[in-house]
Amino acid sequence: MKRPDVIVVGAGIVGAACAAELQALGRDVLLVDGSVPGCGVTAAGMGHLVALDETDDELDLCLLSLARWDDWLSTHASLAEHVRCGTLWVAEDDAQMAHARVRAGRLGRRGWDAAELSGDALARVEPALRAGLAGAVRVARDGVVYPPAVAGALADTLVALGGQTRFGTAVARIDDGSVTLASGERVDAADVVVATGTAVTRLLPDIPIFPRKGHLAITARYPRRLSHQVVSMGYGQTEAGSDALAVAANVQPRITGQWLIGSCRQDGIQHADVDPRVLAHVLRSAIALLPCLADMKIIRSWTGMRPATYDGRPVIGRHPASPRVWVAAGHEGLGVTTAFGTAQLLADLMLDRPVSIDAAPYSPSRFAHVPT
Ligand SMILES: Cc1cc2nc3c(=O)[nH]c(=O)nc-3n(C[C@H](O)[C@H](O)[C@H](O)COP(=O)(O)OP(=O)(O)OC[C@H]3O[C@@H](n4cnc5c(N)ncnc54)[C@H](O)[C@@H]3O)c2cc1C
Repeated sequence: MKRPDVIVVGAGIVGAACAAELQALGRDVLLVDGSVPGCGVTAAGMGHLVALDETDDELDLCLLSLARWDDWLSTHASLAEHVRCGTLWVAEDDAQMAHARVRAGRLGRRGWDAAELSGDALARVEPALRAGLAGAVRVARDGVVYPPAVAGALADTLVALGGQTRFGTAVARIDDGSVTLASGERVDAADVVVATGTAVTRLLPDIPIFPRKGHLAITARYPRRLSHQVVSMGYGQTEAGSDALAVAANVQPRITGQWLIGSCRQDGIQHADVDPRVLAHVLRSAIALLPCLADMKIIRSWTGMRPATYDGRPVIGRHPASPRVWVAAGHEGLGVTTAFGTAQLLADLMLDRPVSIDAAPYSPSRFAHVPT
């Protein structure tokens, strides 16, 4: 095996995007995963490509990434099962509608088309919604992909560009400029990128990333289609460190004719079992917006652990104590949307190029004061 310039550990959508980006920019990359590409949280999520705007830096990263998604999807749309369905942010009352208007303004000012809909207009564009909703914001350019297929395709691109992969090979230890595999073999490189999602803290104990559990369910195939991803304006982040169960409706049309139903956020739970009580809560909140779901058959339910951080931001950049170690992880519920932007930002930093967006909010050094 030729000595790589960069070892990327973790072939989820984030690590695979970083590996393909760095290889395309001329570094020789080795991508290592304990399993196969896209089999971690990337296989568990919803694949909603969505511009979120809770903070300016979140929106910066989303818009950087969504522009890159547009480029990539121009040649890979069918492989990615892409549908540009748009998002309907549905307001159940006037307070949520006021919040929705603020979102529409923020997105619109950044050129991400977002239109306010009255309750009547909403009923016309998405007739499956219950009557009597206050209105919505329709974000036309958001979309949906199938994330594991994207991670696999990015790993293939890496190989096509001359990069190397080792799958089914877990990394047991990270040092400054090398990794030690579970077999004991040591592989050296100029730089190491750790992109192992919720498993980052096991390899780098000073980078605190914790699991935030979500439940999902999918229906059988039906001829009746949703036209948009329908998300309650109540959908958002659980407060950091909170044990509370946060549930809000989020229903996605799949290209297969299935309806994918989410979701909720729970901290402090390590096991991945489906909790029937939590699942019932998720389904009830979806049915409250889309009553026809009550007559549809659920064929599978599962959970996924979002890789979360205490300040709600991903970790992208150089490790504060090991200059040849880089981190790309902690994307919580937005890692599919922000994978390409993360790869671009990481490459800018590694190759010492001008950064496309402010990198400071994502710096791993912000955890230097957090006790582990
Ligand atoms: C319920 C739910 C809904 C979601 N919905 C959305 C959504 O609609 N839109 C969106 O943008 N995001 C969504 N997300 C978030 C998104 O799925 C994640 O942020 C993203 O997949 C994280 O990708 P990753 O590459 O960082 O991690 P992962 O996909 O977990 O990849 C990490 C990889 O590292 C490997 N690995 C771990 N440890 C080691 C080791 N020691 N050695 C070698 N390899 C190792 C694993 O095998 C895995 O392949 C959702 C998540 C959940 C749970």
